[in-house]
Amino acid sequence: MSDSSRFVDHKELLKCKFCGITEEETTLLQKCPMCFAIFCPNCGYSFGGRQFCSKSCANYFYFGEGDEEE
Ligand SMILES: [Zn+2]
Ligand SMILES: [Zn+2]
Repeated sequence: MSDSSRFVDHKELLKCKFCGITEEETTLLQKCPMCFAIFCPNCGYSFGGRQFCSKSCANYFYFGEGDEEE
């Protein structure tokens, strides 16, 4: 009978949906306010003082719909 205390960790490890970096590797993971994807600063898109996972999310957040202008 082994009585060793097991590590039961139910906390889900967050990771960037683009490059896969985990919160163990960077503490700077963010959540997109638009689609709630997790992303790191390298993959994120900064717009209007907020961080989004992508430019289309930023556009959607501010302008409501995807304005397809480059
Ligand atoms: Zn990333
Ligand atoms: Zn997003």
